Amino acid sequence: MKKAFVLSLAVLFGFVMFMGAAPAQVQAKTIFVTIGTGGITGVYYPTGGAIAKMINKKRKEYGIRATVESTGGSVFNINAVLSGDLDFGICQSDRQYQAIHGLAEWKDKGPQKDLRAVFSIHPESVTLVAADDAGIKTLADLKGKRVNIGNPGSGQRQNAIDALAAAGIDYKKDIKAESVKAAEAPGLLQDGRIDAFFYTVGHPSGAIKEATAGARKVHFVPITGPGIDKMIKDKPYYAKSFIPVKLYPNATNKENVPTFGVKATFVTSAKEPDKVVYAITKEVFDNFDSFKKLHPAYQVLTKKSMLEGLSAPIHPGAMKYYKEVGLMQ
Ligand code: GLU
Repeated sequence: MKKAFVLSLAVLFGFVMFMGAAPAQVQAKTIFVTIGTGGITGVYYPTGGAIAKMINKKRKEYGIRATVESTGGSVFNINAVLSGDLDFGICQSDRQYQAIHGLAEWKDKGPQKDLRAVFSIHPESVTLVAADDAGIKTLADLKGKRVNIGNPGSGQRQNAIDALAAAGIDYKKDIKAESVKAAEAPGLLQDGRIDAFFYTVGHPSGAIKEATAGARKVHFVPITGPGIDKMIKDKPYYAKSFIPVKLYPNATNKENVPTFGVKATFVTSAKEPDKVVYAITKEVFDNFDSFKKLHPAYQVLTKKSMLEGLSAPIHPGAMKYYKEVGLMQ
């Protein structure tokens, strides 16, 4: 009797252990990865969502579950990827270059050797939006005006400082510089609390639509001139670009607006496991046509263009895929 009781207890115990262990095992297999993006009215946020969507579709196969976080932008994402707070991040190609070479925000910290490139995404233009009533037609007209150059942590902040410097404007002395996030700038412009703002972003973007859709009429200011030409020549990470005005019918410009630009890129850390980086790269590239449809800013993408603008070493997980399909030797 006693023996039978002990036996049944043992069976019961074993059964409980088995039932308890089964779901725990499934959970242990799921790898959660977080992608750092930007403000929710930018293009990084939907881009993070597009990448997460591709990999989450195959959750059963890879056991990877990707989520997206809205952040302060490029510089924040690079630092968070390197500290291990984020697995992946989207950042401007110029910021990738500066981090890997220990320039700009990384001047004191030195080269960020653990940064790894995965692929490039859409082009981004340094975009200067000004209120029509503020009398700003050129960069020089920004003198004395209240201008948002972006939060520390954003990519656009240094682009704005570079553009201003190339036009002979010291952002600390010659303008009233604001440092708010790009998502807040359109509201401030519409409320008359700033005269203009810089945003380095893909087009079309929600923030620029919002800025051009209000009662206060606004326009894009060309970022041109001999100083800008020299800067583009001197800095390997900048290239000429333009803003297609047909994307913003409420802006008062009649023609496309010349400026300079960079590329959005997808980065991670050398510490990220190869199989995770491989899986994400494979899903985005194998399903390239569906990926391209996820945002109008991806219209110009080709598989080849997605391998350009990368200055950090390519992560071995991504490289494995590129070699398999012959995109790289
Ligand atoms: N280029 C911006 C930055 O690096 C973000 C743009 C976006 O969110 O689309 O901060």
